[in-house]
Amino acid sequence: MPDSLKITCLDCGQANRVPADRLGAGPKCGTCGAGLVTGKVAAIDAATHAKAKGDDLPLVVDYWAAWCGPCRAMAPEFARAAEALKGRVRFAKLDTEAEPKVSQQLGIRGIPLLILWRGGREVARAAGQRPAAQIAQFLQDSLGAGQGAGRR
Ligand code: ZN
Repeated sequence: MPDSLKITCLDCGQANRVPADRLGAGPKCGTCGAGLVTGKVAAIDAATHAKAKGDDLPLVVDYWAAWCGPCRAMAPEFARAAEALKGRVRFAKLDTEAEPKVSQQLGIRGIPLLILWRGGREVARAAGQRPAAQIAQFLQDSLGAGQGAGRR
């Protein structure tokens, strides 16, 4: 991991620099004061999405819509996984109905869909509803040994 990480505030969209060893110390946005590493799911718009997917800390986005039953069913599972992976992956959700251009750009045909981003690259995507444990497993597998837990 680099000495400091670029982390976009999911509340206001401001890019912040956070020393790697401060990730667990509740870093806050220099502009709005919101927590940067919260273990919670942040609702983001297209503008913040465009910035945050370039962050050094991995970001997983749940592409959803209010009319989608499986999306609503997965939301609490996604939130549980966010708690479990706090400090390693940040979690966000994007309303595909409010932001149709994002769906077009990403070629999203079905929701719910999870995409894992790091450093501006799509690392992996997973379509369909799944429980918290499978969401966490998908992310850990996708991030590989370098970032994974349980390896000493
Ligand atoms: Zn902020």
